[in-house]
Amino acid sequence: MPDFSQRFHWETLPVRGALCRLDETYGRVLRDFQGPPPVARLLGEILAGTALLATTQNSYERLIVQAQSQGALRLLVAEISQAGGLRAYARWQEGEPVDLATLPDALLAITVDPGLDRERYQGLVTLRDTVAESLNAYFAESEQSPAFFRLMADPQSRQAAGYFVQRLPGVMEAADWQLLTQFFAVGPDAALFNMAPEDLLPQAFPGESVRLFPPQALSFSCSCSRQRVADMLRALGQEEVEETLAEQGVISVTCEYCRESYRFEASDVAMLFKEENDGARLH
Ligand SMILES: [Zn+2]
Repeated sequence: MPDFSQRFHWETLPVRGALCRLDETYGRVLRDFQGPPPVARLLGEILAGTALLATTQNSYERLIVQAQSQGALRLLVAEISQAGGLRAYARWQEGEPVDLATLPDALLAITVDPGLDRERYQGLVTLRDTVAESLNAYFAESEQSPAFFRLMADPQSRQAAGYFVQRLPGVMEAADWQLLTQFFAVGPDAALFNMAPEDLLPQAFPGESVRLFPPQALSFSCSCSRQRVADMLRALGQEEVEETLAEQGVISVTCEYCRESYRFEASDVAMLFKEENDGARLH
C-alpha cells in the first residue's frame, strides 16, 4: 500500500483527526541509515508526526518539525511539502545513548513556511520523553485546541504510522475527550495500526458517526539539486571553496536527507564563480 495521510472528523462532536501510513517513506529514510535503533525509531516517529501535523494546515509550502539538543541527539528533523513529499534525517553523538528524556536543553520546533516569500511561522516547546508527547505539549501550550498523538515506528519491520485527534472549539464533555484520548493511548501498536480505520474509528465513540475523507498520497522526496548545492557553495564564497578544493582536490557535498552526492571538480568550481564574476549587473 502506498503511503498516505487521511483526515477524519466526528459529525456530532467537535473533534477532528488524521491517520498516516509511511512504510515506504520510512524504508527509504532508513535505506542508508547506520545509526543506533533508538534514532531509527525516532526518525519514523517524527515522520509520522509531521505528516499528521500537515493535515491541520490549509496552505503551506513546507512544514518542518525539528528536535534539537546539546546532548546525544543533536538534531532530528522531518519535512513535508504541500505536494506530499517527505524527508528526514538525524545527527547524533556516536557512543552516547539517545534518550529524549535525558537530553539537555532539548527543544522541539515546528516551522510552517507558507512560501511566496511570506513570513515563516515557528512554534517552540521543550522536548518531552517521546515525539508524541512533545507534540501533545506543543498543542497544549501554543494552540487553543488540545490534541493527542499516537505514533508508531518499528525499524525492524520498517513500519511507521500514526493517529492524531484534536479537540476543536465547541461543546464536549471533558470526560468524553478523556475517553477518546484513552482509546488511542492504550493497547498495543498492532491493535491500533493493523485495523482498517473504517473499522477502528467507529469504536472510539460507539453510536457517533465519523466521516473519513479521501487519503492524500505521500512519498519520500528530497528537494536537493546540483543547482542548490552550487548556490550554497557560492554563498560560502570563492576563497573558502577554493581553499577546500586545494586541500581535498575535489568538493564533495552529500545531502543529509537522501545521501545523494554532488561533486565539483576544479573546473566546476572555476565555472561556479566565473558565472558570478561575469554576470551582468542589472542595476
Ligand atoms: Zn537530497
